[in-house]
Amino acid sequence: MSNILILGGTTEASALASALAERGARAVLSYAGRTDRPRAQPVPVRVGGFGGVSGLVRHLRDEGVTHLVDATHPFAATMSEHAVAAARETGVPHIMLTRPPWIAAEGDRWTHVPDIAGALAALKGPARNVMLALGRMHVDAFAAQPQHHYLLRFVDAPVVAPGLPRHALVIDRGPFTVERDMGLMRDHGIDCVVSKNAGGGGAQAKIIAARTLGLPVVMIDRPPAPAAQVTHEVAGVLEWLGHAAERGV
Ligand code: NAP
Repeated sequence: MSNILILGGTTEASALASALAERGARAVLSYAGRTDRPRAQPVPVRVGGFGGVSGLVRHLRDEGVTHLVDATHPFAATMSEHAVAAARETGVPHIMLTRPPWIAAEGDRWTHVPDIAGALAALKGPARNVMLALGRMHVDAFAAQPQHHYLLRFVDAPVVAPGLPRHALVIDRGPFTVERDMGLMRDHGIDCVVSKNAGGGGAQAKIIAARTLGLPVVMIDRPPAPAAQVTHEVAGVLEWLGHAAERGV
């Protein structure tokens, strides 16, 4: 019987876990452990890093993993590289389940930047009310542009207060809607949004809200993805698992 390891932390990973549980497949969902209260899952969960490529190789072997599905966030580039390397070393079949990036539509006012440093450079200039829709990991870097007032939205209340001189903090894990995000932007007088090009439906509300309000967006493009088989759909993974079984792997 197959024994699937899902690298998670995304809605896609949770959707795949549900689909596999419904089919009675054996699967484990792996979290990095960044969130205090991960969503309840219909499959067993493990939490924490593996210890680099060698740790993941050991885990795949010790647990008898037969299929590795990388459903991490498109910006989790290190984990995705490790997954490809460990799959290669062990011969465990590997696929990436990822969301297609957002593409600018009519009315979008995006400035594309390659990374956080690029976003900081794009924020040089007079004080603005900036919504930093980035999660908590990179927020402190924005202290380098301290003139702005930042609106932050985190899944969990932080243990240590964000290191930004002027900010407001909203704790909310979504799901977010365009109407509510427009209301939030209006309430805080937002005049610029900084976002990663995460893709997918769940995080898109703020992008549509910015478009509707005519607000500029500093869009951080994705890091390069490793060469790997990719699907954008849970169904694509299920098909791959079926095909993999037919090939006897
Ligand atoms: P990352 O930089 O690619 O990974 C850093 C390290 O965290 C990895 O080397 C690995 O540690 C551990 N790790 C990451 N994902 C893991 C997983 N699913 N299971 C077990 N260990 C994992 O990743 P990140 O950007 O910090 O993201 C961490 C988690 O948050 C991921 O699960 C990702 O899907 C989720 N997430 C990230 C973002 C984002 O914007 N980056 C947004 C939403 C959700 P070892 O080397 O010790 O194995």
